[in-house]
Amino acid sequence: MALLWFRKGLRLHDNPSLEAACHGSRNVYPVFVLDPWFLAPDPSAPSPGSARVGINRIQFLLESLQDLDRNLSSRGSKLLLVHGNPIQWRIRKLCFEFDTEPYALDRDAKIKEHAKDKGIELHCSVSHTIFNPDLLIAKNGGKAPLTFQSFCKNLVPATKPIGNGPSSIPPTGDLHGIKVVPVPTLEELGYTDFHEDFSPFRGGETVGLTRLEDSLANEKWVCEFEKPKGDPTAFIKPATTVLSPYLKFGCLSSRLFYSRVKEVYSRAKSFTSPPVSLEAQLLWREFFYTAAYATANFDKMVGNPTCKQIPWKDDDELLSAWRDGRTGYPWIDAAMTQLRKWGWMHHLARHAVACFLTRGDMFVYWEKGRDVFDRLLIDADWSINNGNWLWLSASAFFNQYHRIYSPITFAKKYDRQGNYIKHFLPVIKGKWK
Ligand code: FAD
Repeated sequence: MALLWFRKGLRLHDNPSLEAACHGSRNVYPVFVLDPWFLAPDPSAPSPGSARVGINRIQFLLESLQDLDRNLSSRGSKLLLVHGNPIQWRIRKLCFEFDTEPYALDRDAKIKEHAKDKGIELHCSVSHTIFNPDLLIAKNGGKAPLTFQSFCKNLVPATKPIGNGPSSIPPTGDLHGIKVVPVPTLEELGYTDFHEDFSPFRGGETVGLTRLEDSLANEKWVCEFEKPKGDPTAFIKPATTVLSPYLKFGCLSSRLFYSRVKEVYSRAKSFTSPPVSLEAQLLWREFFYTAAYATANFDKMVGNPTCKQIPWKDDDELLSAWRDGRTGYPWIDAAMTQLRKWGWMHHLARHAVACFLTRGDMFVYWEKGRDVFDRLLIDADWSINNGNWLWLSASAFFNQYHRIYSPITFAKKYDRQGNYIKHFLPVIKGKWK
């Protein structure tokens, strides 16, 4: 019997752990563990539910689990959602995806030790990223890449997606007393902060794959994609793909996304190049994953060898004004409201608010802003979020400390009629001139 342990990688397509679990097994247990570490409430947190995960991301996760269960059922299996620690079960083979985050590395080291003691066959596949980060680091002389350019110079071959997964999955068979629970509701997990204008982005592999196809259908758009061009205030139809939450949870394979973009390029006469192209956006993701994996204390200022030591302010008044959209700058407040309501905002809106909190205006610790993003974003991703906060606060990677976004004129360029601001801050409606 094989245990397939889903953590990220909530999909059937391009899933090497699923293939390994099915290979030669009479029974496969596809398991997702509701980890108390992520779900633990914090009474001092600004809103109910888990201190680590906001309502939009948890909703996205629950939808992704429901979709995974439906997809597994269509192939003769089902998702086993359990509380607690599955390492005590009697299994012969354990399959899961390699995860570079410190919490996961620590957990998986224990799991590997346990599997070795018990003689359990282990399959740990690299499938969350396009490249194997160990190979990238080896190619970079054993060090973290510090610039995007040096990262791109030292690329290894991209791994290809492996298809849609087996057409039928061995049944779970006898559960040997394992207590399986249904996918919980938000209320059952302690969330009560429901609001109108909830995130429009629904979770799951099915929606992720459809969104990928829709995004790539306009091949001209793909070939002309150029960031930072694009309107950060477009919200009815965002200017970028909004595939980040699907990549974060692995509902969509980054390798599939990458190979599909390359296919579009192969049919085109010309297309944009890194660092601004759509392909490059995925390379930025790989860059931050690799840098984060190879840097000690990547999520901290102190003890992080790549991070400038800056005497930031520890001012909770300023921090909460920023977090709650009360700075008095409509563009900053509207963007932070979009973050709270939708769990997503455009890359340049993230730039603007992160710059405002740190070197641009408030001079508050970047780690504090990172924590707010980490709780509220549906795509919150340890490596990418920390990497971008280091960048935006000019603490690492980018050192042009005085290149600041104006909290007034920057958004005016795009949002001439104030549609974005009026949508997310309706209180402004009557005052718009
Ligand atoms: P698209 O432009 O369509 O790009 C496609 C994919 O490329 C994205 O889904 C994402 O996976 C990747 N990508 C794009 N831009 C970046 C980038 N700068 N760095 C790394 N990968 C990138 N992105 C996250 O996924 N999770 C985070 O927690 C996160 N935190 C951020 C914090 C700050 C302060 C800033 C400035 C940016 C952050 N980003 C984060 C990066 C970026 O803003 C989002 O990935 C992007 O806006 C997601 O929208 P999209 O899927 O439409 O992107």
